[in-house]
Amino acid sequence: MTPATPPSDTPESRWPELSTVAAIDILDQLPFAVWIVDTGYRLVYANPAFITQSPPDIPRPIRTGTRMLPDESDVTQHQRWQQSYRRALDGEHVTITTNTTTYHLQLITIDPVRQWILGYAGTFPTTEHDTRFRAAIETLPDPFGMYEVIRNPRNQIVDAQILVVNAAMCQITGYRREELLGQRMLDLWPEFTNDGTFASLRHLVESGAPVRRTTTLLDRHGVQRHIELHAGKLANGFVSIWRDITAQQQLDQKIRQQAELLDQLVDAVIATDLDYVVTSWNRGAERIYGWSASEMIGRRLGERIETRFADTNSEEATAILWQSGRWEGEVEQRRRDGQYVPIHSIVVLIRDKQGTPTGIVAVNRDISERRHFEQLLMKANQRLEQAIVEARRQTAEIMMVNELHDLLQVCQTATEAAEVISFSLQRIFPRQSGYLMVRQAGTANLNLLAQWGEADLAPATMTIDECWALRRGLIHRTCTNAGIRCPHIHSNTPACTSCIPLVVQSEIYGLLHIAGEELPRSELIVMTGDTIKLALSNLELRATLREQAIIDPLTGLYNRRYLESSLPRELHRAQREQLPLTIAMIDIDHFKQFNDTYGHDAGDVLLRELAVIFREHLRQSDLACRYGGEEFVLILPGVNRETARTRLQQLANTVQQRRITFANQLIGPVTISIGYITYERGEYHITTLIQSADAALYAAKRGGRNRVIDFADLPPDQGDE
Ligand code: GH3
Ligand code: MG
Ligand code: MG
Repeated sequence: MTPATPPSDTPESRWPELSTVAAIDILDQLPFAVWIVDTGYRLVYANPAFITQSPPDIPRPIRTGTRMLPDESDVTQHQRWQQSYRRALDGEHVTITTNTTTYHLQLITIDPVRQWILGYAGTFPTTEHDTRFRAAIETLPDPFGMYEVIRNPRNQIVDAQILVVNAAMCQITGYRREELLGQRMLDLWPEFTNDGTFASLRHLVESGAPVRRTTTLLDRHGVQRHIELHAGKLANGFVSIWRDITAQQQLDQKIRQQAELLDQLVDAVIATDLDYVVTSWNRGAERIYGWSASEMIGRRLGERIETRFADTNSEEATAILWQSGRWEGEVEQRRRDGQYVPIHSIVVLIRDKQGTPTGIVAVNRDISERRHFEQLLMKANQRLEQAIVEARRQTAEIMMVNELHDLLQVCQTATEAAEVISFSLQRIFPRQSGYLMVRQAGTANLNLLAQWGEADLAPATMTIDECWALRRGLIHRTCTNAGIRCPHIHSNTPACTSCIPLVVQSEIYGLLHIAGEELPRSELIVMTGDTIKLALSNLELRATLREQAIIDPLTGLYNRRYLESSLPRELHRAQREQLPLTIAMIDIDHFKQFNDTYGHDAGDVLLRELAVIFREHLRQSDLACRYGGEEFVLILPGVNRETARTRLQQLANTVQQRRITFANQLIGPVTISIGYITYERGEYHITTLIQSADAALYAAKRGGRNRVIDFADLPPDQGDE
């Protein structure tokens, strides 16, 4: 091969079109001859390797513009090259083989009117020894590799062997240079088989179709790398330049993920420009407001979304946003369906690097559910507080009722009980009025015992018939428009009334009546009623016990003990008031015989009947006592001797005339003997008075019975007995 003069000028300066040919730098660095001719076969570009490896038949010196044909004197060679260039112009891949080298000619179309032919020497030189080439590819920032294809016996491309790599290639793959050189591509990156990358490289070598695709590979450490792969054909292989797009890809993925995340957010994320024209509207916003992104983007937000501010207004919120770059608060915003949704909103002013505001982003959350729960919680709290207040009130009420109970236990008389009841009911039912009626034993009458609140509502007396509660034995409630009011209820009584019958063991003790604009809870009413009725029945019980101590059970008259305790009082009062006092002693005549004749039971009936007759003849202030057996004592305050004689005689007459039956049989008649003494004035001793009456009685017996004797009429000797 004859040495040739290299092209004098740089190709770019004269052939600016060349800069549009990809990888012109690479062409310069390639270790084999590469040249480009125009359609007149004149040299446009030749790389440095061309100097040593240019086709040998082209006349020297070769410079830009030289026709790249052998001299016409060598007709065979000249025609051979001319035909080859013509076939290349027709688009054919042409090879010209000399003794040493195979040259390739290939059409490059820059644009429809300009075409060039690329020529190159197709045998790979031992590039690793070409330091200039190595230095050149090392400076490339992108991973660069040169590969020779490996064919199977049937001439099919099955792999590619790495011939040249640069430092960037080592870096992206994680292998050292010596670990890459000579290796098979698919051994290192089998992923190229699956994703079609190797298929397109094979196609490149077979057809010349350039490759540009994105693919992934695992580096030596197993880290996935995303690359953009560009490859160009060589005679029996290809060169490829990769661009590491891992970071870009990761960023893209991040952005995609963030976008997905934004869309998955329940929150509305709304971006607007500074005029509130919507630039971004995520799915959360679609869900909350019912407007789609396409309906909102490009519109001012306020056109479709109306906002109500609670504690502030739009101007104030805007001012805060511009001052501090942020506004957060709760608003109500109108949805597409017209409903207002409670929204928690965070609005942020977006600024560029210089700090100039460029837009606004709002993150809005639908807080209806939270509101709902807050309200539930609030209601639950209120109920709890009410329950506590109610519990406290009930405890206080129970304590007051207990106190009423305790106080009633120590009451000795109905008067005391009345005071206690009035006082306690005033405290237990402070917002109501009422009264307590107590039944007069053995009658249908009730008398007022206690009252509280508004006066004048309580009747002094009433009958059982006048109250529905007493008649039915059930609590009777009325309110203005409901229920029949009892006749005992005064017309001025407030709207609501409750009558509580106080019944113990089916016996009516009284009536508790409560009235007010509203009634207290019924448990309290019932509890109070129970306390009062038990106390009343106890009071009654105690009164009964007391009576039993002073009353003779057979006749119901006072007994001798009572007589002895009350006589001094009566005598004292007579002396103080200077009134007469008559004491009479009565004895049934021949009662022993009566018993013998009619039996002891008949005798009892007679004793009881006598008691009835005594009561008929006695006045309010008189006292009748059974002194013992068939003897009685009458105390008649204010009765003088004459009146005593008349009344006692009448009594004796009545007894004698009373027809008494026992077991359907007339018993009697009986007579009685009476001796009496009338105290007029002066000092007397009780015992003396009783003895005197007894003496007069004795005289009556002795005088023939059935008679009345005044002690004063006795002769002095008899009075002494
Ligand atoms: P005299 O006219 O002298 O009073 O004769 P008498 O029989 O009434 O007098 P005596 O004192 O001898 O008899 C009293 C009788 O009264 C004796 C007793 O059987 C009877 N007696 C006393 N207490 C009761 C009583 O509670 N029931 C009955 N059935 N009889 C009684
Ligand atoms: Mg007697
Ligand atoms: Mg007698």
